[in-house]
Amino acid sequence: MDRDQAEKRVIELRETLWVNSRRYYVDNAPTMSDFEYDHLMRELEDLETAFPDLRTPDSPTQKVGSDLEKGFAQYPHKYPMLSLGNTYNIGEIEDFVKRAEKELGEVGFTYSCELKFDGTAICLTYRGGKLFRALTRGDGVVGDDVTANVRMISNVPLSLKGTGWPDEFEIRGEILMPYESFDRLNRERLENEDQPFANPRNAASGSLKLQDPKVVAKRGLMCTLYHIPAQSVAFATHSEALDAAASWGLPVSSERRTVSGINEIEDYISYWDKQRRFLPFATDGIVIKINELDYQNTLGYTAKSPRWAVAFKFQAEEVLTRLLSIDYQVGRTGAVTPVANLSPVQLAGTVVKRATLNNEDFMTQMDIRVGDWVKVIKGGEIIPKIIDVDTSKRPADAVKPSFPAICPDCGTPLVKDGNEAKWFCPNTDGCPTQIKGKLEHFLGRKAMNILAGEATVEQMYNLGLVKTPADFYSLSKRDLLMLEGWKDRSAERFLSSLAESRSVPFERVLFALGIRYVGETTAKELARYFGDIDSIASASEEKLLEVKDIGDVIAKSVHDYFNDPRHLDEITRLKEAGLRFSVEEVAVSSTALAGKTIVISGNFSKSRDEMKRLIEDNGGKNSSSVSGKTDFLLAGSKPGPEKIRKAEELGVKIIGEDEFMDMIPSGDSPAGDDDIVEPTLF
Ligand code: NAD
Repeated sequence: MDRDQAEKRVIELRETLWVNSRRYYVDNAPTMSDFEYDHLMRELEDLETAFPDLRTPDSPTQKVGSDLEKGFAQYPHKYPMLSLGNTYNIGEIEDFVKRAEKELGEVGFTYSCELKFDGTAICLTYRGGKLFRALTRGDGVVGDDVTANVRMISNVPLSLKGTGWPDEFEIRGEILMPYESFDRLNRERLENEDQPFANPRNAASGSLKLQDPKVVAKRGLMCTLYHIPAQSVAFATHSEALDAAASWGLPVSSERRTVSGINEIEDYISYWDKQRRFLPFATDGIVIKINELDYQNTLGYTAKSPRWAVAFKFQAEEVLTRLLSIDYQVGRTGAVTPVANLSPVQLAGTVVKRATLNNEDFMTQMDIRVGDWVKVIKGGEIIPKIIDVDTSKRPADAVKPSFPAICPDCGTPLVKDGNEAKWFCPNTDGCPTQIKGKLEHFLGRKAMNILAGEATVEQMYNLGLVKTPADFYSLSKRDLLMLEGWKDRSAERFLSSLAESRSVPFERVLFALGIRYVGETTAKELARYFGDIDSIASASEEKLLEVKDIGDVIAKSVHDYFNDPRHLDEITRLKEAGLRFSVEEVAVSSTALAGKTIVISGNFSKSRDEMKRLIEDNGGKNSSSVSGKTDFLLAGSKPGPEKIRKAEELGVKIIGEDEFMDMIPSGDSPAGDDDIVEPTLF
């Protein structure tokens, strides 16, 4: 690869890693497996090693992924909170041991082997034996203050017991959601039609960032601690420091072992590779640390991780099964995704029948044939994925698949977009699957929230009643009564839900338009930055790049969308239908809070003025002090202690931001936001 090609690939990789890092750390809704993410990170590292001038300080290889969010007070870490170097390859653990032996000399040091807990990192400070502060990792330098939430976790002691603890020290660890709490939470979310969390890690970090500590208390989180920064206490070894922490009543894992040499490390790894499935919480690997604190000091740190520790990550569970056939699915954005139909097989607790094959290049690289035995994983417990073909088992009649040259739905020749690996059907406004997909997306709960689903869209489309979202707003009751099974009541319900959608805020209307790569979060950022649709439509790509987290790919997609006259016509029709196309009109009018007096205190994900406006727009009244007439105290992070005390004394209900948002019509839960840009396949 020459330098130019390398540079292009580096830009592409960084964009993908940044987008996925935000989905993982902030939205808590990853769409990529950890294995895939780590694989792309390794590719980027290798390119930056081969072309060192391409390595920049802001590259994801040089910085830890950030979980910082608005709505939390932030404090600097006393010592940076870093990541860990990781590998899926046991040979690289052997290299780590050899390097340590070489650098330290063969002086008889030991290793601490520990489970790698799959949750979210936390840093606790104890002052005078009391829990003083809890910070998330944040960007490694400053963290979000989640003390009020951590206080609600039952195994975190608020006061230390025993003796010998320093007057002030830090201890770090992980907040986890045990499987039992995770299953219960997801069952509840499904019942409430909320998006379930993809895995216990996301559920733990989403819960830790809730605005209402009382809700956190119900989430069943636990904490395990595994590191006291060496500067913080005077011990000779890491294991002694943790033993002392355990004697002070802090939750420290009893599964850790102090070992010497690679053989004992490998025994520990192979034991937990099997036994970990009997643990009540998720682990994703083993961490190996040099145990002697002096030697840790000698080895030091890179910009992103300690040199004295390494993580061995477990491969996601995998199984072999037969590939029976391949479907080519067209998504709402026109991307054609090959999906494998598999001989049903049990994998990580569920029966898997289908798996994604990503794109044509991926199929070619694997040289896959229909009839092959394929290896399937459930990386990060998201979408099952084929990762390899066992060619030794290839039957004689296995058939080489050919990627379709035309859209399986409308017959239009497929095209590729720039460097993209995916094929697209360019017939955006004529391909039935794309049209129906866009219409369904427009109606969706997180978009315009109109009461109609896939079957209704199918009928309306087949009868020629709707082709673009604006057509919904011209439907009459007579039209609706043509639909099979529709009576007066269903038609009226649909029409009133359509009328209510006129007050949906601009950012959701923008998301509803279904612009490629513009998920909920990007729509919010665009709406906030530009304020109205005309400013977005006339913005140059350079201007679009000024918006937070928007890179070349999204900027181009938005720019292209507004350069198509058909889209501008559609927007004109939607404007005529009365939809909101500017943030000035964001107000959600309802009477949900009519007659309620609310006092707000603390920080929220929106500004306090916006929160106050939401109260008024929903019929409520703001008041600055808590009294007998107050209905709710709406408390964000760091609420005024006096207000809380007064509310408790007078029996005024204290609610958090999540609960408040649930009380008003278009309330969006900050913790559950996701940013899905492609339709979910399974
Ligand atoms: P990491 O999770 O690979 O390892 C470091 C972390 O391990 C530490 O920060 C700590 O929180 C945790 N840990 C657990 N047990 C520990 C122990 N006993 N001792 C020390 N630390 C322990 O690194 P990270 O920086 O938190 O996250 C990066 C990883 O997150 C990536 O390697 C990737 O797998 C995943 N990720 C995935 C996506 C995605 O889209 N799927 C996106 C971003 C990151």
